[in-house]
Amino acid sequence: PASYKGRRVVVIGLARSGVSVAKVFHELGAEVIVNDMKSRDLCPEADELTALGISVICGYHPEDLVTEETALLVKNPGIPYTSPPVKRAEELGVEIITEVEAAYWLSPAPIIGITGSNGKTTTTTWIGEILDYAGLKPIVAGNIGRPLCEAALEAEQDQWIVAELSSFQLKGTSAFRPHIALLLNIAETHLDYHGDMDDYVNSKAKLFDNQTEDDIAIVNWDDPECRALSEFLAAEVIPFSVYEKLGSGIYIDPPFERDGGITEEEVEALSRKIIFKQADGLETIILPVAELGIPGVHNAANALAAIGASIAAGVALEQLRPPLRGFNAVEHRLEFVREVNGVKYYNDSKATNAVATTIAVQSFSSKVILLAGGLDRGSDYMELEPLFREKLKALVTFGQTREKLSRVAELAGLARVEIVEPSDDVESVLRQAVMQAAAIAEPGDIVLLSPACASWDMFKSYEQRGRIFKDSAHTL
Ligand code: ADP
Repeated sequence: PASYKGRRVVVIGLARSGVSVAKVFHELGAEVIVNDMKSRDLCPEADELTALGISVICGYHPEDLVTEETALLVKNPGIPYTSPPVKRAEELGVEIITEVEAAYWLSPAPIIGITGSNGKTTTTTWIGEILDYAGLKPIVAGNIGRPLCEAALEAEQDQWIVAELSSFQLKGTSAFRPHIALLLNIAETHLDYHGDMDDYVNSKAKLFDNQTEDDIAIVNWDDPECRALSEFLAAEVIPFSVYEKLGSGIYIDPPFERDGGITEEEVEALSRKIIFKQADGLETIILPVAELGIPGVHNAANALAAIGASIAAGVALEQLRPPLRGFNAVEHRLEFVREVNGVKYYNDSKATNAVATTIAVQSFSSKVILLAGGLDRGSDYMELEPLFREKLKALVTFGQTREKLSRVAELAGLARVEIVEPSDDVESVLRQAVMQAAAIAEPGDIVLLSPACASWDMFKSYEQRGRIFKDSAHTL
């Protein structure tokens, strides 16, 4: 790191990661220049950087941005290699990296990298809590919480960086090598970003690219894409499965049944146990599934993944139980809000795709009144039809996908389908949706916000959507 002192580092792209990378290299004594094509008034982050004495150029790429004196170019993964300053850097032989790559270079601590389509934040948070309980001083960072670069700068050798990584962040990496890599699952999301599924799978697989046999890969055995991938990995593979007993790895005994639509009650009734089986055949019972802090088969899978990563990081088996039991739902992930007139309200605003919504609905044994809808990314949502048919009492839909979702609900034969028409007052749209759901609900029912869509057609973020939902439920 010290070698950047006094040298020019160019950062292209002023997103959150750009800001953090600029600050980190500034702290290392580099002469940092940040550049973004957006006009200055669209770059509110610029002020913070200029206050630190970092130059920020907005609105265009200056001709002389990258020169022979440039030591390093850090680009946002979204900026193409055909962009003029990036091309210039290539011509001049200037090293080109992304924020995740920079974090890897800078970090004296080993990294646990977590990726997948669903469950990243839950699993990352859980691993952080387990490592913390075991006294391993984790720093949880990346897509969640602190920017990875800042975590890397702060980390000491005897710590662990627990990094949530999106496929987008993995796109621009080259030498990035997590000592423990965890791939949760691969669902068909983000296709508008990556063009096609192969590209998406490839960027997830990048997590493992630089691993050697000294590293560890934790892989979901229940996901065909993940399982296929595991054959090609250099690292030692620790598989996990909620549906199969494994020769070695982490699994559940007796396993869950696929498409079993397992409810919380059934989980408890069957006294399933989480087992860790070592390569030499030694078996250890970690704890009963029913004792996990959060419900649902998907969260059992997240627990297995978290257990695998924690054991790989050196957590003793007897230290796993308390943080596995004590874990609470992360905000906006199947978060219990309140009970009114015998109806329970849950906020699952983070469910931005059909798989996440399916899983959320299946976590309940009662009938669900689902609030769904949001940004239209081109899917027709037909895959939700069986779920709607079997599990929903009613659908209340809003946002760009409201017509599509209501069509699916009608096909599924739902008696009650309510469409909330758009309005500039987005709060009132969601409040109305909650009130309509409350009007339909009877004691014992579940009202669940699990939108199956991103929030950006109406809201700033899924957090804002979730908080408005919670406020509305609290004012019922
Ligand atoms: P991510 O960070 O990958 O978006 P989260 O942990 O924030 O994942 O969970 C988002 C939503 O995805 C949850 O509300 C839940 O409905 C669903 N989910 C969580 N874990 C899994 C899993 N292992 N498989 C499928 N869906 C999951």
